[in-house]
Amino acid sequence: MESSQHTLKESISFSGVGLHSGYKVKLNIKPARANNGIRFKLIGKRQSMPALVDRVIDTSLATTIAEKDMVFSTTEHILGALSGLGIDNATIELDAPEVPIMDGSAEEFVKRLQSANRKTQQSKRLFLKIIKEITYQEDDKKIRILPHNGLRLSCRIDFAHGLIQDQSYTIEMSPKSFSAEIASARTFGFLDQVKQLQANGYALGGSLDNAVVVDKNGVINEEGLRFEDEFVRHKILDLLGDLSLLGYPLLGHVIAERSGHSQHFGLMKELAAHPECWQIVELDKANGNGGMLERIVSSTKNAGIRLRPLFGRATSSAASCPAAA
Ligand SMILES: [Zn+2]
Repeated sequence: MESSQHTLKESISFSGVGLHSGYKVKLNIKPARANNGIRFKLIGKRQSMPALVDRVIDTSLATTIAEKDMVFSTTEHILGALSGLGIDNATIELDAPEVPIMDGSAEEFVKRLQSANRKTQQSKRLFLKIIKEITYQEDDKKIRILPHNGLRLSCRIDFAHGLIQDQSYTIEMSPKSFSAEIASARTFGFLDQVKQLQANGYALGGSLDNAVVVDKNGVINEEGLRFEDEFVRHKILDLLGDLSLLGYPLLGHVIAERSGHSQHFGLMKELAAHPECWQIVELDKANGNGGMLERIVSSTKNAGIRLRPLFGRATSSAASCPAAA
C-alpha cells in the first residue's frame, strides 16, 4: 500500500462515443496538484467539479454526477481506472456530458494512463479505513464492508441465464492485479433489454464493439468472452469506480451480492451516516522492511475540505436508508 499521493507525469487524450447519448466525445486526462482529487470539467470552461458521492444525481443505467450546469455520466469506468492504478489527483476534461465507453472496459484508459506514467507527490495519501462492519441492503441485493488491511473486493452475480448464472470473484486490489484481472472486463447487456433501451433513447452508442451482448443462446459477439467470468469481473470495475466517489482510497473488504450502481450509492450514504464505522488514516513506513504503520488523523481537522461537505450533507438524508446491520 503506497503512502504518498500520485498524479500523472503528462496529459493524455482520447476520443470515443458515449454509450447512452451516442455523442462523439473527446476526453483529456491531465495531471493535478496534490489534494486536488479527481475533478471533471468541460473542455474550454474554467469551472470544474469534484468526483464525489454527494454530486451523484442518477444511478439507473450508469453513475451520473452533476454540479450547477455541469453533468457527466457513465463516470464509473474512467474512475475505476484511476482508482485501480492508484492515481489520486487528475482532471478529466470532456467536450460532452458523457465519458466515452471505449471498448466497454477500462483497458484503453489503463494502457494510456500507464504509458503516461505516475508521478509521486509530496503529500500523504489519506485512507478511509473501515473499523466496524457496515451493511446496506435492498431486497436480495446486499453490500457490506468489513475491516481489512488493504482493499479487497468480492462480487457475486446471479442471473437467471444459462451462460452467466452464479459467478463470484474476489480480488486483493493493487495496480498490478487490477490491470491484469479487471481492467479489460467489458460491460454487458441482454439483447432484449438493449433493444428496449434503444427504443427509449438509451444505449444509442451501444454496439458489439463496446459491450458483450447476450441472447438466449449465448454471447453474440464473434470474439466471445475475454474471461469465462468476464461479467462478474466487470461488476468489480463498476464497484471500484463508484467507491472512488468517496474521495479517499478505502481500507476494507467490500462484499457485494447482486448489487449495482444504486446499491453502491446506498452503501456510501450509509457510511456517511455512520462515522463510528470508519477512520481517516495515513500510512507511515514503520521500518526498513517495508512495513507500514497507521496513524489516525482527525477526520475534522486533517481530512480536508473534500470530505466535510460530503459527510455533512449526506448524513441529513440517511433516514431514507435501512439501518446498518
Ligand atoms: Zn460498467
